[in-house]
Amino acid sequence: NAPLLQVKNLRVEFPTRRGTLVALDDVSFDIAAGEILGVVGESGAGKSLTGASIIGLLEPPGRIAGGEILLEGRRIDRLPHEEMRRIRGRKIGAIFQDPLTSLNPLYTVGRQLVETIQTHLPVGAAEARRRAIQLLKDTGIPAAEERIDHYPHQFSGGMRQRVVIALALAAEPKLIVADEPTTALDVSIQAQIIFLLKRLCKEKGAAVMLVTHDMGVIAETCDRVAVMYAGRVAEIGPVQDVIHAPAHPYTVGLMGSIPSMEDERERLTQIDGAMPRLTAIPPGCAFHPRCPHAFERCHRERPDLLDAGRTRAACWLHAARPSDVATAPAVFQ
Ligand code: SF4
Ligand code: MG
Repeated sequence: NAPLLQVKNLRVEFPTRRGTLVALDDVSFDIAAGEILGVVGESGAGKSLTGASIIGLLEPPGRIAGGEILLEGRRIDRLPHEEMRRIRGRKIGAIFQDPLTSLNPLYTVGRQLVETIQTHLPVGAAEARRRAIQLLKDTGIPAAEERIDHYPHQFSGGMRQRVVIALALAAEPKLIVADEPTTALDVSIQAQIIFLLKRLCKEKGAAVMLVTHDMGVIAETCDRVAVMYAGRVAEIGPVQDVIHAPAHPYTVGLMGSIPSMEDERERLTQIDGAMPRLTAIPPGCAFHPRCPHAFERCHRERPDLLDAGRTRAACWLHAARPSDVATAPAVFQ
């Protein structure tokens, strides 16, 4: 039984006047049906680009230059726009940072919900409206029977994001891609929205790819987590293992300062230095200039994901070759 979503060796490029920028390189992961996968990393690590590639909304001139994306075993990375639009409504729901980008200001939220339901599901108008009201109730909108006829601007930011979640779930998709779904909201309501998203997706059996820079959100929400660095997956594994026994030195640094959900700090890590720009990705392991454990091989050869106990980490410290183990620090032994 194939996983719901498979991303295999995904490569995304941006042609520029000075050459081709490789924004995602060899990104691979799966999401099982009903699972919540967190994708965490600093800005520019490639989390949003990965999400945009999956939902078919990569902004030109960015383009998928290699690899495959499969949903329910079927390639979706080279589909015509029209077909991808249908999949985006029916099979994949999307939630973005700013609810206003997902809502049409000229239509009532009820009209938008009913249209989405009727576009993708074989139900009549009355049944669609009944379902729309139920979705608003499910997302905690008070007085849903009246609020359904209100326009987006009549809702607060937090209520609007609840409406967006209702809209993303309206066609009963198998997968929700949520990119920083609470970052634009008041801190006081961020946790509510995250827990709502988690509860509804679990209830409705939808898998979620949750993109966030907030490790606290990941810790409280996700089943597994992928840590991204400089356009690659640095580590992936069950969330508790990645948090409590990280295998990649970058993840170790991330875990040094887990910000709480009430904390808006963008800063993720106590590691000195900054993630490299795409124009200047170092050779070998891209993390080597910042890595306290870098050794000779790290400067020359780029590590792929290796088995590292309960997680997989792109780090030579986990290579089985004795010659490397001999020169590696004892930190992970
Ligand atoms: Fe550090 Fe080397 Fe591992 Fe990269 S491969 S994270 S430089 S030890
Ligand atoms: Mg982003």
